[in-house]
Amino acid sequence: MLSKGCRLCQQGAKLVLFITGRCGRGCWYCPLARERKGNDTVFANDREVSRPEEAVVEARLMSALGSSITGGEPLLVVDRVMEYTRALKEAFGPDHHIHLYSALVPDEETLKSLRGLVDEIRLHPPPEEWTDILDSPYLDGVRRAKARGFYAGFEVPALRGVEVLEAALPELDFLNLNELEWGEISADEMRRRGFRLTDDLHNAVKHSSRWAQPLRHHKKVHFCPSRYKDSVQLRERLKRIARNTARPFEEVTVDGTVMYGVTECNVDDHHSRSLMKEGQYQDYGDHLELSWKRLRHIAEQLPGRKYIIERYPNGGIVVEMIPL
Ligand code: SF4
Repeated sequence: MLSKGCRLCQQGAKLVLFITGRCGRGCWYCPLARERKGNDTVFANDREVSRPEEAVVEARLMSALGSSITGGEPLLVVDRVMEYTRALKEAFGPDHHIHLYSALVPDEETLKSLRGLVDEIRLHPPPEEWTDILDSPYLDGVRRAKARGFYAGFEVPALRGVEVLEAALPELDFLNLNELEWGEISADEMRRRGFRLTDDLHNAVKHSSRWAQPLRHHKKVHFCPSRYKDSVQLRERLKRIARNTARPFEEVTVDGTVMYGVTECNVDDHHSRSLMKEGQYQDYGDHLELSWKRLRHIAEQLPGRKYIIERYPNGGIVVEMIPL
């Protein structure tokens, strides 16, 4: 059975709040990007933020139904976690579902601070502890969290030998297995261990889904394929943002990106303006933005550079620029 956190992720309805890039562990498979690892910065989805209110704005933009607190190690900055989760709960109400990832074992005091702010806790025990998981402090951590009313379980990468975690299942609310991903930082170690990619298109590590196989039948186990994160979660999240932010002349694509046209014609030129429909373009002083279809239609009559832009919604990264 999927945890509520996972269900909302699948709908792309969770704000991803990267609360810090600091982490005391040095997992060889760490998937963090180089520019995030070790830096004490906060990102709400892909936007760097410095105040909880900015994260709330980002959550509003996508009509978020919940948030996932990730890192780095969130419990290194418990006060910050409290500050941001409190702002999110205050803005969206107690039903705004918040799950927190951590590779540390939360003590009683930490759990007490998070009560009412975080709903679900996902602990990441290191692989060295998996064979003795029944004696691991991580299982104690889950027991403590459950006793305090949190929904609690493990979230780990699907490595070879992960099936030993079956022993912990009776005590866990869930066990999430993430397909192992080839990372920027972990690439050398992956190569040294003889790992390879499944194909040229995705960054899933070959055999990881097979290593998860012995556990996948269990009702508490959820396997999250790497391609799913891009093809479903990200796409659905982009669509939610695009629905709220796309300008009238922008086309929202099936991937959740937006498309529009740009002309660098003289914006004061009467003839150029007469080709555009009132209210169907935006003037930026040195260029105009309008429907890409309209631009293609009138392109030959306009001087200067013209192109079509496809990008993530709300001024996000440019995916493609097509000259006309
Ligand atoms: S605990 Fe998480 S963030 Fe820290 S090194 Fe391991 S995988 Fe990376």
